[in-house]
Amino acid sequence: MSFEIVDRDLMGRIGRFESKSGVVETPQLMPVINPNVQTVLPKALEEDFGCRALITNAYIISKKHKEAASEKGLHNFLDFHGTIMTDSGAYQLLIYKGIETTPEEIVRFQEMIDTDIATILDIPTGWAVTKPYVRKTVDETIKRAKELAMMKTRDDIAWVGPVQGGRHLDLVAKSAREMGKLPFQIYALGSPTQVMEQYKFDALVEMIMTAKMNLPLGRPLHLFGAGHPFMFSLVVALGCDFFDSAAYALFAREDRYMTVSGTAKLNELKYFPCSCPVCSKTDPEEVEKLPKVEREKLLAEHNLHVCFGELRRIKQAITEGRLWEQLEKRAHGHPSLLQALKKLKKYSEYLEQQSPVTKRSGIFYFTSLGLARPEVVRHRKRMLNRYSPPTKAKILLLLPQTQTKPFQNLKKYREILIEIKRTNKIDNVHVCTYAAPFGIIPRELSEVYPLSQYEIASPLDSETVTYVAEQVGNYIEQTNYEKIMLLREPPVWRGKITAACRRACKKKNAFFAILREREPWAKKISSILL
Ligand SMILES: [Zn+2]
Repeated sequence: MSFEIVDRDLMGRIGRFESKSGVVETPQLMPVINPNVQTVLPKALEEDFGCRALITNAYIISKKHKEAASEKGLHNFLDFHGTIMTDSGAYQLLIYKGIETTPEEIVRFQEMIDTDIATILDIPTGWAVTKPYVRKTVDETIKRAKELAMMKTRDDIAWVGPVQGGRHLDLVAKSAREMGKLPFQIYALGSPTQVMEQYKFDALVEMIMTAKMNLPLGRPLHLFGAGHPFMFSLVVALGCDFFDSAAYALFAREDRYMTVSGTAKLNELKYFPCSCPVCSKTDPEEVEKLPKVEREKLLAEHNLHVCFGELRRIKQAITEGRLWEQLEKRAHGHPSLLQALKKLKKYSEYLEQQSPVTKRSGIFYFTSLGLARPEVVRHRKRMLNRYSPPTKAKILLLLPQTQTKPFQNLKKYREILIEIKRTNKIDNVHVCTYAAPFGIIPRELSEVYPLSQYEIASPLDSETVTYVAEQVGNYIEQTNYEKIMLLREPPVWRGKITAACRRACKKKNAFFAILREREPWAKKISSILL
């Protein structure tokens, strides 16, 4: 059993998880197979969808199919030879209260049917419950997790350690810390059905981030109940490696058609916005006329195609270093996802620490949402904590952002540099640009990734302008130039850069001059220098 991370972007990763039934690539969606109602057969999952892992319920199997599953083993019983994970019945406990099994029984049963990934009988927290109850679910789950070592008899099965706590983040943190000390091969976070049904994705961001910050990052995290493709980008970006979907089948039963940005009712569709094998061959009107069972099967198949397609898209985004762009794209598919992405800002520093430093592609900056992305946060932190200007620099010359990158390659900026060099005081002048979304970019850093590898949408939104102006002001305040010279700012900056410079210069008691384009300003700079 092993987990190896092969590629990363944000906190998302492509990994290889090996169990006794082989290797699966993460992020991995495990379709839920209900042994009583199989809308799509496990064998078809393997053959038609290339699906290498599924999840089923050990509790239901122990109640209804105990003999068959024990005799044949789980893989033959389901006719699926990839990786099988079993849930323990905890979900049934949450929904129907009180189930007829014990923690020990369910551990033994999962070993007996030869599952690959097994789950202890945890106590799910749920949502609308009192804090003392939440504490009880956390403590009891930890107790049972500790007892696993005494109960299990095999070492070739991967065990899942569920993290509880619901919306009480202090208890999620405690649960994650305690579970993280135990030798589980996979950790899991229970996402209460209310979170999913009411689209409380901002709450989900907080739960996942709290769990991740307190768990060993080298081990995979499973998110229970995250089955809709429109949230996959978000949960993968936060570092979830496995998730399960019963939704593909449950939605199909209610004639609901999944898309990457939401759900449609079959009878509301005139066209199928999809090119999967199901949608390519038929249209909504025809599908609607089919008998219930057939319709349900086709819709379930389409739903699965959308899920797997979205996962491939996300994995490709990870390899290209464009997961943030993918995240923003999906966030604009539904307001609740946009709200969740806004919530991520709260964790932007942690996200930055965990994100790769260089990437294969430049970054696209669309709106102020991008201010939370790791590259922007990293530049801000480095300028604040690690950067100091060249020692001889007395004058800061601030030039507006250019489309040309690096900025000093712009013809008119080259001319300034030549003019300054003529004065023999080039060492005294520090040439920087101010640029969205980063703030100050010193000339000597301008070719460092990603300071010349980005594209922005213009005109900038006001949050972005304000942010850049703040960075400019902060930079002047934390450095010791004697003079600040600002080439007159273009209207797109709304006077905010000038105002920030003026305020900061006043505080620092530094000389402030605005150079105007029409004046022979290159000459003026040299006259100030001389
Ligand atoms: Zn389709």
